[in-house]
Amino acid sequence: MTLAVQPPLEIDTFHPPRRILLGPGPSDLHPQVKSALAQGVIGYLDPVFVSMMEELKTLMRYAFQTKNALTFPMSGPGSVGMEACFVNLVEPGDKVIVCRNGVFGGRMIENVERCGATAIVVEDEWGLAVDPQKLEDALRAHPDARLVAFVHAETSTGAQSDAQTLCDIARRHDCLTIVDAVTSLAGTPVLVDEWGADAVYSATQKCLSCTPGLSPVTFSDRAIEKVRARQTRVQSWFMDLKLVLDYWSASQRTYHHTAPGNSLYGLHEALRLLAAEGLEHAWARHRRHHEALKAGLDQLGLEFIVPEGARLPQMNAVRIPDGMDDKAIRRALLDEYAVEIGAGLGPLAGKIWRFGLMGYSAREENVLGALSAMEMVLA
Ligand code: PLP
Repeated sequence: MTLAVQPPLEIDTFHPPRRILLGPGPSDLHPQVKSALAQGVIGYLDPVFVSMMEELKTLMRYAFQTKNALTFPMSGPGSVGMEACFVNLVEPGDKVIVCRNGVFGGRMIENVERCGATAIVVEDEWGLAVDPQKLEDALRAHPDARLVAFVHAETSTGAQSDAQTLCDIARRHDCLTIVDAVTSLAGTPVLVDEWGADAVYSATQKCLSCTPGLSPVTFSDRAIEKVRARQTRVQSWFMDLKLVLDYWSASQRTYHHTAPGNSLYGLHEALRLLAAEGLEHAWARHRRHHEALKAGLDQLGLEFIVPEGARLPQMNAVRIPDGMDDKAIRRALLDEYAVEIGAGLGPLAGKIWRFGLMGYSAREENVLGALSAMEMVLA
């Protein structure tokens, strides 16, 4: 028999080039995380694996600053965590207030609509934090809304919103909250219990400096009650919390899907490193390197788009000066200096550059390297 498709033997083993990842994520892997990822595969119900899962939940509660029992990593990127929050907490016909001040608030609206619910959108200019007064006004105008969703750290602009105030307002109006902490977790304070946030999701490739493909999530008891009280079945089989928990809850441990074991080893190590450094030190490190980067970007005449006070240390978005060729400059940084920075998204495409200093990428040598590379390519 002659096979219709012949083996493509000319294809070599893939070796990614060395890069310094200073974009919106993924960030550089810590060498210990890299080693953890390369360990042998064991079964997802192996007792040793299962005890690692319990440690992961403990480490994750520290990172999120929560005592929520339901805290675990979903298999899939941040978008899976986002979608899991919406499909479990939103039912057809619901009204959900979504605050949009960048790309990811827009995705939340999509999620609400795909759940058959209505999104009441609180708009803020891209580059600004969510305005709490606008949320208050929207909740007064829509007293039947029971859920508020917002992005804590808008990666598309580098703006940080006041999660504590937004959660307080939502709670006063008897609403649960869905909070996107994809870019904030481990880079800037995420205090789930102090905020009283109900469903919070993140991702592993930002300030945790692990590989993409896992989404740490945490749900309050109020959120679990809401899921339990659903009138309709969750439309996604994969993300239905009641089913996923058959695997992740200590009392059950039955097959749901094959857990991405090696990625979980990596996350375990990334969270262990975070615990060893201490959250306060990790936040301070991100802030210190942000200040240094900012001083250098100021020297180069690059202006931040986010007003001082709402800037994320781990995501620095600056306006591209008139006459500069966005793509050519980013390409030169990559080809000549191995430095990856981020482009603008949506309406900000071609208008901004985004310098990420996330997790293991937030190091002095990277700040100095990025600034000198930038100086060379702009000269
Ligand atoms: N939310 C925010 C704020 C993000 O920055 C991202 C990714 O950059 C996502 C959600 C989606 O995460 P992922 O790309 O891992 O699916």
